[in-house]
Amino acid sequence: MQVLVIGASRGIGLEFVRQYRAEGHAVTATARDEKGLAVLTELGAKALPLDLLDPRQCTALGRRLEGERFDVAILNAGVYGADKAAPSPPTEAEFDLVMHTNVLGPMRVLPALTDCLAQGARLALLSSRMGSIGLRTSPNGWLYRASKAAANSVLKDASIAFGGRATCVAFHPGWVKTDRGGGQAELSPLEAVQGMRAVLVRLRLTDNGAFLNHNGEALAW
Ligand code: NDP
Repeated sequence: MQVLVIGASRGIGLEFVRQYRAEGHAVTATARDEKGLAVLTELGAKALPLDLLDPRQCTALGRRLEGERFDVAILNAGVYGADKAAPSPPTEAEFDLVMHTNVLGPMRVLPALTDCLAQGARLALLSSRMGSIGLRTSPNGWLYRASKAAANSVLKDASIAFGGRATCVAFHPGWVKTDRGGGQAELSPLEAVQGMRAVLVRLRLTDNGAFLNHNGEALAW
């Protein structure tokens, strides 16, 4: 299988690379600094530089991926950003960092995938249950929540655009022990990624455009 992981220097993205490489799959993965690229190369992945905040690098990614046919594409990169509860406003810079990374980033990368998804491919965007409007009971982290709700909208549109060729889903990975999730989190990256990979394998065409927990359970938008 050919696998693409966007944002793979550490945490959940890196674990996707580890697990797919351990099974011998061909993995292309991105990182935004030399240290991250070296980690990926060490794992036997084809490492490409990508900072989602840099539009030129996103355009260059499209050229670098020309001719590839990915069976699995994981859009993982994301930031939590300023931890403010409603109605405490983010600054413009705080807003831009989170929205540009979590929303504009996927909107910049998805065009690069238009011609390099294999027929029957699976595409997953790492969203968050915090982005669910239907399940919401807390106003904390409202900037991150807004960004993941918007990212869900981006995934839904991608599922329509790519439907017929790829099955596209938004994932809540669980609460995962990473730099983002912290040490108190419930799942190891290994467990979370094993779960999501198993879900990707059993996706059916009718799952296109779904918002799923790491165990495959459907989540309310
Ligand atoms: P981490 O903070 O551990 O890792 C985030 C990854 O995103 C890093 O590889 C980071 O690269 C990359 N990244 C951040 N900004 C950019 C950028 N501008 N361009 C390219 N790459 C970037 O997060 P997790 O592994 O925990 O989370 C992965 C995804 O899962 C995220 O989208 C997150 O929102 C989501 N998620 C995680 C949860 C958890 O409990 N951990 C819960 C719900 C959702 P770099 O090393 O260069 O910073």
